[in-house]
Amino acid sequence: MLPNALADRDGDTHLIAMYTPLFAALSEFAMFCFTQRAFFADVGDPLAETSPPPPEGHVPGLWLLRYTLAGGKVEERHREQFTPRDPVRYDISLYLGYLMARFVWFHEYAHCFNGHVAYVQENAIALRLYEVSEPSKGAPRAAQPAQPGPRDDELRCLELDADEAAMWATLQVQETDRENLESFASLDRSLRKRLTLFGAYAMTWLFEEFQNYMESNTGLDHPAPYLRLQNMVHLARQHFTAPEDQELQRVVLKEFDHIASVIPNMYRSDNLMRDISDPWLIGELQRQLARLDALRPALAPYRYAPVAGS
Ligand SMILES: [Zn+2]
Repeated sequence: MLPNALADRDGDTHLIAMYTPLFAALSEFAMFCFTQRAFFADVGDPLAETSPPPPEGHVPGLWLLRYTLAGGKVEERHREQFTPRDPVRYDISLYLGYLMARFVWFHEYAHCFNGHVAYVQENAIALRLYEVSEPSKGAPRAAQPAQPGPRDDELRCLELDADEAAMWATLQVQETDRENLESFASLDRSLRKRLTLFGAYAMTWLFEEFQNYMESNTGLDHPAPYLRLQNMVHLARQHFTAPEDQELQRVVLKEFDHIASVIPNMYRSDNLMRDISDPWLIGELQRQLARLDALRPALAPYRYAPVAGS
């Protein structure tokens, strides 16, 4: 019952996995977003929506998990309140959930493909890579180390590498019209790209909420989710420079404002744009990216490479 995902390796076989609650949480979050009238207001009939507040004060994406674990039963009133009413917006909300799941899959895949899993296993750094640190059973939080060590630094920068790969790959699916979810392949490409980028950015926010939920010792083996977001915003600005893509990035950041009015602690576009030039954040990001560059030679032997003749 944990919203998590992992990348692992058993012998020569790499494994990636998503816990069922993670997929449920993504879907819940995506559906809730589309109940808000101003969110992606060019999709379907936004006036059919009621812009409800978050379910019973919970973070959208974690409500179902918390509610059912506490013995609650899902009733018709919940469906009415927390799923989009307009059928087009309902369908697109499901698509957003799938796109967020695809981001997670590609992120896990990158942990394998880029040699991260084999590297951490061979160097006795970790048994496998989890997206959200799982709470150590029985160990009080105060007993855990407060200061990250050099190995934690390595684990953090692997996340930035996997994020970059996942964001690039999920956008390439759209850019090259290779959407294999047939129901959505005929959607306007610009809309598919907007949803994809929003989903990638929103995952960092959800992971932060998941880490809070798991009461893990945040920050020891993952960069602060906000730093991961800033990294992706920087990457998008560097790599997607066509005028229509620059506009798309601006519009995507604005979408956060449309749900920030009801979701506590949600990103806001003016803060995001202010922080993109924040000296401390830039310095920290550059430090972690330099760490990643320094690590690349050590990762290289573990990267996937085509086998000659196969
Ligand atoms: Zn990861």
